[in-house]
Amino acid sequence: MINKESKLYSIVHITCPQCHEGKFLISNVYNLKYVGDVRQECDVCHLKYEREPGFFYGAMYISYALGVALFVTIWASCKLWFPSFGAWTQIGLVTFFTIVLAPYLFALSKIIYANIFISYKADAKPTK
Ligand SMILES: [Zn+2]
Repeated sequence: MINKESKLYSIVHITCPQCHEGKFLISNVYNLKYVGDVRQECDVCHLKYEREPGFFYGAMYISYALGVALFVTIWASCKLWFPSFGAWTQIGLVTFFTIVLAPYLFALSKIIYANIFISYKADAKPTK
């Protein structure tokens, strides 16, 4: 459905931003022991994910944007479909979804950030 060469494929499937085949995370997003932990390198094309020390600190900005998008989505949904909900109910919903989706948004922010700087290469061959 999504073109394999697009960055969206890598983001949706949370795969290597260069070859779109190797795994990006150590474990699944809701394994709380390894939440948001990125592998050292791709197991298919051997791309080193952390390009420099602290590379993924920039993902905080993406995470912030995703958090704001989540807040706006919940707020707009309440205004549109549940206008009787009070402010505290909406705050409760935002808090609930922020906590439940936090591991996923954390992983998503890192894969989006990596995709900003790393492009897809169809001929990404193993270098080892
Ligand atoms: Zn790869």
